[in-house]
Amino acid sequence: MLAERLRLIGTENVFKIGPCIAEVEAAGYRVIRCNIGEPDFELADEIRDEVKRQLDAGNTHYSDPQGLPQLREAVARQLGETRGLAITPDRVVIFPGAKPVIGLSQLAYVDPGDEVVYPTPGFPIYEGFTGFVGGVPRPLPLREELGFGIRSEDLERVISGRTKLIFLNFPSNPTGGVADRPQLEEIAEVILRRAPADVRVVSDEIYEHIHFDGAEHRSIASVPGMERITIVASGVSKGFAWTGGRVGWAAFPSAAEALAFRNLNINFFSCVSAYNQEGARLALDSAASARRFREMAAEYQRRRDMVIVALNAIDGISCQVPRGAFYAFPNISGACRSLGAVDAHAEFPAAERGCSSPATLFQLFLLYRYHVATLDRRSFGVLGSEGQHFLRISVATAVPDLEEAMRRIAAAAVDREGFREFLRSGRCSY
Ligand code: PMP
Repeated sequence: MLAERLRLIGTENVFKIGPCIAEVEAAGYRVIRCNIGEPDFELADEIRDEVKRQLDAGNTHYSDPQGLPQLREAVARQLGETRGLAITPDRVVIFPGAKPVIGLSQLAYVDPGDEVVYPTPGFPIYEGFTGFVGGVPRPLPLREELGFGIRSEDLERVISGRTKLIFLNFPSNPTGGVADRPQLEEIAEVILRRAPADVRVVSDEIYEHIHFDGAEHRSIASVPGMERITIVASGVSKGFAWTGGRVGWAAFPSAAEALAFRNLNINFFSCVSAYNQEGARLALDSAASARRFREMAAEYQRRRDMVIVALNAIDGISCQVPRGAFYAFPNISGACRSLGAVDAHAEFPAAERGCSSPATLFQLFLLYRYHVATLDRRSFGVLGSEGQHFLRISVATAVPDLEEAMRRIAAAAVDREGFREFLRSGRCSY
């Protein structure tokens, strides 16, 4: 019934795991949700009030498919203030979230056979869309030993004369890695030297407001020579704790490209709700936003510190210190080996082995037996994930729940008998 091409698109397991969590809850257990990439803060009152005011004023009709001019102006101004970019509003397009920028960029720039570079582990939509548009995936490894940074040699290796798009994402989901200014300069140098002149870099900066240890956000677009090839994407979901608002944006290298995306918006969405765009405009313009970013980042940092200490105290688990976003990405190799997950996975029939991994087994063991929801390494790009054993743990979860989750993970990591029983249940992939 469904078109062949639907086989080619990926998904985001954070949504796919929902029914598994519901199943555990239906059996009467409380699941601690460390799987969600969603701030647990409320939308600020002043933004909520502005949206209400707009609704009451009847601002409920179609609006400019490129985005309200006043919001595009606010985005252009914010990009100037935070990144030193001279962007005009005609280069800005508003989308229903930052996510559509990923797929629409692949539709807009990638012809069959063109190559798409994206970080792995990375946000799964980069890889998921590449096959869909007939692009050739070129996963770029993020190196744990470099704080999940990019090694120049790796970048040189994945760029070729057919590279059309390069996705970058700092602060990174799922690793929390951040490239500082010298690292961004190094990455830019390789791109400018190796990639075709018409390459586009999609810099996914949705976590721009969540940096730790006093660091400030840096964009690759600010490195000399990069603005003319870089698309900067961001939105209200993370920094303003407004995932349900569905307002995101991108600034393009030229107004002509922005117009092409305006037309894609016309074809797909018509426009983003004007009342939410007005809320987003107020959010960007408000003098109170900077204080809220600081408070939220401080709270995430407090949780990060607690979680990192707890994870590193578990035998068989080690965790780098994330420098932004709200995730911990522990290496669980030792635990996977000592529980027997690596051996068990190696013995699966080939078809089952291919849609699971030792980390998947540990993830599902945690969910079904210890009632903690996390995500496995494979959820962040399948290519290049072989032999890597990691989990993503979201710290956008209340502290008492996080503390309890850490106790449960520590207990699970040494529960060999429980793991053997779990394997017999046959729930080895999802
Ligand atoms: N990029 C990354 C790296 C993300 O983690 C997310 C959200 N999980 C998005 C984009 C999409 O954000 P939005 O809700 O604005 O579509």
